Amino acid sequence: MAKEAGKNRYQLFDPESDRKAQAQKLIQQQMLEALNNEEFELFYQPKVNLQSKAIIGMEALIRWRHPLKGIISPAEFLPHIQGHDLEVTFGNWVLKTAVNQMASWRLIGLDLQVSVNISARHLLYPGFHDKLMSLLTQYGDILPQRLELEILESAAIEDMEQAIVVVGDCRRLGVRFALDDFGTGYSSLSYLRRLPVDILKIDQSFVRDMLTDPDDMRIVEGVIQLASVFHKEVIAEGVETVAHGNLLERMGCHLAQGYGIAKPMPTEMVAEWCQDWNQRYMMFS
Ligand code: C2E
Ligand code: MG
Ligand code: MG
Ligand code: MG
Repeated sequence: MAKEAGKNRYQLFDPESDRKAQAQKLIQQQMLEALNNEEFELFYQPKVNLQSKAIIGMEALIRWRHPLKGIISPAEFLPHIQGHDLEVTFGNWVLKTAVNQMASWRLIGLDLQVSVNISARHLLYPGFHDKLMSLLTQYGDILPQRLELEILESAAIEDMEQAIVVVGDCRRLGVRFALDDFGTGYSSLSYLRRLPVDILKIDQSFVRDMLTDPDDMRIVEGVIQLASVFHKEVIAEGVETVAHGNLLERMGCHLAQGYGIAKPMPTEMVAEWCQDWNQRYMMFS
């Protein structure tokens, strides 16, 4: 016990970790300032049905439009707030911005499903359900069924019992849930049975290599079958080419997202993209 305390105290004065902590604090400060300066925005990436070509919806993906550095991707800044309360601050901003956008699109006749990535800390933070409920009430004209929350398989496992409760509560509001990056999180089948998600998102690492790597192809096939057994929908992410799309369709996965369909785009491009897509594919519907 005493030894442990001594160890901790030593770590407190470790110059290396102290420097790291300082740097982390600084970035967090900059991120909070940038949030207040409205430097963050959401890009949107379409999800489509490969068979019918119908647009299913859009996934919201955060970007930092830095005044000097240009557009910064989430992989560069989200890790700095992971596990901190700031993650909840950002999460709330993302959720509100996405729901607000859904309502705006609805006003111009675009009834899109919108998916929002939710961190484990945010989902399990006290009051998440109540906040979500008041957001849905505030934007009363949107359908909760059109809002989908994407949680990482690995994140949900952190506190599985709690996740099951919160996901269940939120689904009773009508909101849908997706298990993101599915296949990378080691979740057990019994868990999959208990966690009431609506859709599995096959991780892009498997999709990307499935044309050349038989193991990855079998994993993709396996997830598609798993989804079917558990009566869940399934979507493939990272669909980069027509060949990927065709193989997925043959395997029975009809929903897809990826650069081969469209890259994430700024909000103001979404309506035009939908129009173009529909003109190209939906002439007779
Ligand atoms: P994710 O939710 O799994 O999102 C998919 C990522 O793959 C996105 O990267 C997307 O731009 C990229 N992507 C989509 N299609 C393709 C493709 O065909 N090829 C390749 N190579 N990549 C593709 P992005 O936007 O950089 O986001 C990375 C991750 O950061 C996301 O992974 C998500 O976990 C996280 N993230 C993004 N925005 C948010 C947010 O608002 N909140 C939270 N909590 N996490 C977010
Ligand atoms: Mg996602
Ligand atoms: Mg993913
Ligand atoms: Mg991912």
